[in-house]
Amino acid sequence: MAKRALSQYRAKRDFTQTTEPRDAAGVVVSPRARFVVQKHAASRLHYDFRLELDGVFKSWAVTRGPSLDPHDKRLAVEVEDHPLAYGDFEGTIPRGQYGGGTVMLWDRGYWVPEDGRAPQDALRAGDLKFTLAGEKLTGSWVLVRMKHDRAGGKRNNWLLIKHRDVAAVDGNGVAILEQDRSVASGRSMEQIAAGKGRGPTPFMRGGRGRESAGAV
Ligand code: MN
Repeated sequence: MAKRALSQYRAKRDFTQTTEPRDAAGVVVSPRARFVVQKHAASRLHYDFRLELDGVFKSWAVTRGPSLDPHDKRLAVEVEDHPLAYGDFEGTIPRGQYGGGTVMLWDRGYWVPEDGRAPQDALRAGDLKFTLAGEKLTGSWVLVRMKHDRAGGKRNNWLLIKHRDVAAVDGNGVAILEQDRSVASGRSMEQIAAGKGRGPTPFMRGGRGRESAGAV
């Protein structure tokens, strides 16, 4: 399933040019589903929000980044599934390549669906409620598919919204975006772009996930 799911991902990229991962090589199995958020300074800055499901990362490009304010509804454009190894990718995609620009591992951790429904069904229905346990993002969230796309348009526009809970922040929900260091390397975008400093500590390929490796 993962192989077919990744055909779009592969078709968009030239792996002789980009150092992005081609597949899930080296990824350890985790009994807890992982998530990552990558800050991506492409032609337009956005935050890529990725949830591990069925051996791939379901992915959305959040144009303005996540907000902790439940009043903020963030456009999240569904994009192609990404390989799980992408959750360890931090670096610069060469200019001229798909998504050319610098990528920072902005947050990572684990997620669980909330309402007892299979997440596959919730996604199909366009309403996925979930809890995040990340370094920056925690608590309850929802991804809801927008119903009023242009006629004939692809239904790939969703909204990412923080639910009201102890992790919610009224009024200045975007202050979290000022925490602008890599969760995996401590680096700034500038340091990553310059290829300076230490590389990211692994998450998908071991590190904190390692304790659970083998528990297939
Ligand atoms: Mn992106």
